[in-house]
Amino acid sequence: MAEKTTIGKRLSSRFVAGLTVEDVLTATKAVNERGQSVSMDNLGENVTNADEAKESAQLYHQLFDQIAERKLNANVSMKLTHMGLDVDEKLAIGITRDLVAHAARINNFVRVDMEGSPYTQRTLDFVHELHSMNGNRGAVGAVIQAYMRRSEKDVQDLIAKGIRIRLCKGAYKEPEELAFQKMSEVNEIYVKLMKILLKSGIYHGIATHDEKMIQATVDFAKAENISPKSFEFQMLYGVRRDLQQKLSKEGWGMRVYIPFGHEWYPYFMRRLAERPANALFVLRNLFR
Ligand SMILES: Cc1cc2nc3c(=O)[nH]c(=O)nc-3n(C[C@H](O)[C@H](O)[C@H](O)COP(=O)(O)OP(=O)(O)OC[C@H]3O[C@@H](n4cnc5c(N)ncnc54)[C@H](O)[C@@H]3O)c2cc1C
Repeated sequence: MAEKTTIGKRLSSRFVAGLTVEDVLTATKAVNERGQSVSMDNLGENVTNADEAKESAQLYHQLFDQIAERKLNANVSMKLTHMGLDVDEKLAIGITRDLVAHAARINNFVRVDMEGSPYTQRTLDFVHELHSMNGNRGAVGAVIQAYMRRSEKDVQDLIAKGIRIRLCKGAYKEPEELAFQKMSEVNEIYVKLMKILLKSGIYHGIATHDEKMIQATVDFAKAENISPKSFEFQMLYGVRRDLQQKLSKEGWGMRVYIPFGHEWYPYFMRRLAERPANALFVLRNLFR
């Protein structure tokens, strides 16, 4: 009901670009005009049948065509459960393989988002497999969640293969045995991993709105003479737009992650959970 009603659409508009391909292309053009690149995410996860998975993949192919035709500075982010991982693993890898091949043909890129811990190993295996396929090199990348205890080893394995990484803190509720629970611990490992990424010589994404993490990255890049062109910051559409602008103006690469589509509800709820003040913000705007 939330996803289909007018009130729902108004609620989500702060964090979601809209419902259609045209909506996300318009939002992308506006972000590009501010000198920032984009990653488009067709929202959806845990599809329950093959047709839905194929439909979501089709939409990504359409996005690649439009990115090329309109000469937008954008790539895409997708979730494997949106490509049917829960339905049929072979189907999901087939669909994703076609998508990565399309990206490689047009010199673009597919970022495979990281979901909850039941999917971590399979997602990383998929990314390694896709990266190793002929012609795909550089067209697919992974996400590492700093809160996962396993992440340092995963980072080393990905870097050894030259795979691009987006580093984020992690957005899912995970048990103590798998993930650090204290924010101070997550921040500490985030900084440690950030340093490994920046020193690796591979183009990675530092995805955070946390000013402490950003400052640590800027300080490290400056101290180590790491070029601002050799990595990028990434932030979510509608979150800390002031900081996005500030970093771009200072010459740091900035990619804005723009979600769109009908299935915005789980994404939206994760954003509210991260910062309950967002609920007030959204409600205030709703009644304006
Ligand atoms: C580009 C991008 C891609 C991501 N991809 C994934 C993924 O694939 N898998 C995954 O698990 N997670 C992903 N995340 C989410 C990430 O794991 C965190 O949940 C999220 O970024 C919040 O963490 P933070 O680093 O901003 O720091 P936090 O410590 O959570 O926040 C620091 C400060 O940032 C601001 N802030 C943070 N979140 C919000 C918000 N929602 N609204 C307003 N202000 C906010 C607040 O000022 C807050 O005090 C992604 C995040 C980004 C930016």
